[in-house]
Amino acid sequence: MSRVKAVLLDRDGTLVHDVPYNADPALVRPVEGAREALAELRAHGIRTGVVTNQSGIARGLLTEADARRVNRRVDELLGPFDVWALCPHGPDDGCHCRKPRPGMVLWAAGRLCTDPADCVVIGDIGSDLEAARRAGARGILVPTPQTLPEETSAAPCVAPDLPAAVRLLLGPPPGDRPPGPPPVLASDAGRPEPRRGA
Ligand SMILES: [Mg+2]
Ligand SMILES: [Zn+2]
Repeated sequence: MSRVKAVLLDRDGTLVHDVPYNADPALVRPVEGAREALAELRAHGIRTGVVTNQSGIARGLLTEADARRVNRRVDELLGPFDVWALCPHGPDDGCHCRKPRPGMVLWAAGRLCTDPADCVVIGDIGSDLEAARRAGARGILVPTPQTLPEETSAAPCVAPDLPAAVRLLLGPPPGDRPPGPPPVLASDAGRPEPRRGA
């Protein structure tokens, strides 16, 4: 397995408890162990980023400024993140960025000067992992009660919570490693789709 250089995380349901179309920074609640898990990644020199669909903007349920305020609160509690990518579009807008399309993953990897193949996307639903796959990145699913069973069974890699996902991608600490080659993070990333217009 190539070294993981960046981890791109879904926001709602992965980094923070999902409050649908949240426009209120006061409602931001990190998931259990998120702070420590992110600190562990950063201590290993791994860049961190957020890739978040916010179709509530297209639906008129919140403004871009609301979303930025919520993101700023997430960054206060769990950051600093090296890159933020937000899709404000709706499902029928045909944009390149809305997950499961790969645009945000490709863009965030580019901002970090990192090959998507050296990125891991962590998310709670199938479209997070599909965006990773189409971008040529690896993916880890951390299911929530909202995750469909078929999304979990289709995922190349599943962890019970965010700290476990981070342990999985870092591998066991040195000295704790059983003899033999290091663990391989399963990946069926396949060939990235050709880039379309920005
Ligand atoms: Mg989510
Ligand atoms: Zn978009």
